[in-house]
Amino acid sequence: MEANVAVAAPAGEAMCWICKANKADSGEHKTKRSDLLAVLGTPTQDAPFYFNDLNRRNQAVKSLDAKILKMPVRICASCNNARTQPHDRAWEHMSDRLRARRLAVGQWVRCNRIFGSAVKRQMLVPTFLGK
Ligand SMILES: [Zn+2]
Repeated sequence: MEANVAVAAPAGEAMCWICKANKADSGEHKTKRSDLLAVLGTPTQDAPFYFNDLNRRNQAVKSLDAKILKMPVRICASCNNARTQPHDRAWEHMSDRLRARRLAVGQWVRCNRIFGSAVKRQMLVPTFLGK
């Protein structure tokens, strides 16, 4: 995990799109890292997985922290680690629960079955984690 230290952006450098105060020095994954790990496992030098986009096909990915897995628009380490962490945890919880089910096209997902009561609050601040 990166250090949770805010660094003010010098003039001309990209700023964090969330706080608009710190240097954008931390990349967000295009697909949540936790989802990649849960579905694909950990790629290695000998057993990579492959990334496709509109421009290129079969780009070898040998680490879950590969640059190709991250969005070009960046945020600061403080926002990436502290500010968005409760939301990341809420997503991980919901994603884990959805992967454990067999979903059909057109089927509704009842969030109260995932988060219990007070769905809105728990999806914003995951109190189910005891935080
Ligand atoms: Zn920030």
